[in-house]
Amino acid sequence: MESIKNKIKEIKITEKELSILSLIEINSFNTNGYLPNKEEVFKEFNSATIDKNISACTLAFSPNYELNNDIKNYQFNNEITLILNDKKVGKITQATTFDNDKAYTNIFSANTCKLDKELNPCIAGKVEIFNNEFKKVKTTLNNKIKKNNAKKITALILNADPITRAHERMLRWTIDKADLVIIFVVEGYDTNSLNFQAKKECFEYYAKNFLPLERIFPVYLKNIDLFSPYLDPNYECLLASSFGANKLVIGQNHQGLGLFYDNNLAHTAIDELSKKTGLELIVLPEFVFCNKCNVMVSTKSCPHGAHHHIKYRSSMIREMLHSGLIPPTVLVRKEISAKLLAHLHPNRFKNVQMIYDGLFPSNGIIEKRSDEDLYKELITLYQTSYMI
Ligand SMILES: [Zn+2]
Repeated sequence: MESIKNKIKEIKITEKELSILSLIEINSFNTNGYLPNKEEVFKEFNSATIDKNISACTLAFSPNYELNNDIKNYQFNNEITLILNDKKVGKITQATTFDNDKAYTNIFSANTCKLDKELNPCIAGKVEIFNNEFKKVKTTLNNKIKKNNAKKITALILNADPITRAHERMLRWTIDKADLVIIFVVEGYDTNSLNFQAKKECFEYYAKNFLPLERIFPVYLKNIDLFSPYLDPNYECLLASSFGANKLVIGQNHQGLGLFYDNNLAHTAIDELSKKTGLELIVLPEFVFCNKCNVMVSTKSCPHGAHHHIKYRSSMIREMLHSGLIPPTVLVRKEISAKLLAHLHPNRFKNVQMIYDGLFPSNGIIEKRSDEDLYKELITLYQTSYMI
């Protein structure tokens, strides 16, 4: 009796783990709603040739060491309750355990470095999440697919960090060629990445004002850093396919999948997966602003060469925004820059109203102006050419 009493019946999980478990429950990674056992973890692995630049990544789930301490030598109950911030959020049934293999990263802690002592055993079993946010998203998406009678469904993974004119081009190109476009908005992976909420607000603003909403379906993947450049890109394909897409669009310079695909090193893995999931991959050329053509071009279609090309480099644009500079409007739409500057530099001005009223003529009605309003009007004024 004593030994039963001492069995692990619940484990604490993080928000990020909950997000990934929620995706696993709705079969986003081809495991039928199960966390794989040892044999399956490695079977899944062997099917892909892994590029030496990209860490092999498994679906092995090992309870978080910081939250659960060392539970290496414990027996586990066959039903384990999942706890997030003292709340029961789900369970794993038919649970079994196996030893953690430190040679491989897993998608639950892909970007963290683990020490030997911090390796709890992995748990396999059927995942059940009580209030699965992604399940609802998928139901809404399925309804939309049915309602629109959408046949050509394309997925696009967007790390709009921030959303640039090149992203806009990619989106429009994709929408033109599909009945419905599923846009997965993912977390940034750089140290100066934008906060997810700010990114989401910018994308929502852009979509609402500039895209045909009936032809797009955004999915916000908060807390999931599956899509960092050094990870196995197979999960992106599985995810897109599981949400009903039959095509996946990637930018040529999309780190992760693009790198994987372009280097030809592991071409076979992607081809194999593409065959298995029935997903067609479309690699778009890189878009740049050409100062000779004076317009956005693809590097393939412009003859002027790299010395005339301004690249849409997100890290550079973020650095400008973090420093308080307004990125050129050929790179980022003014409404987006205004939103992000206001978000990144709160309470910057002693008297924003005074600057606003001084610069911009009004019809006499005094309206309270925000930092965002000021940036937006300033950008318009900066674009005004001056002639005598
Ligand atoms: Zn050109």
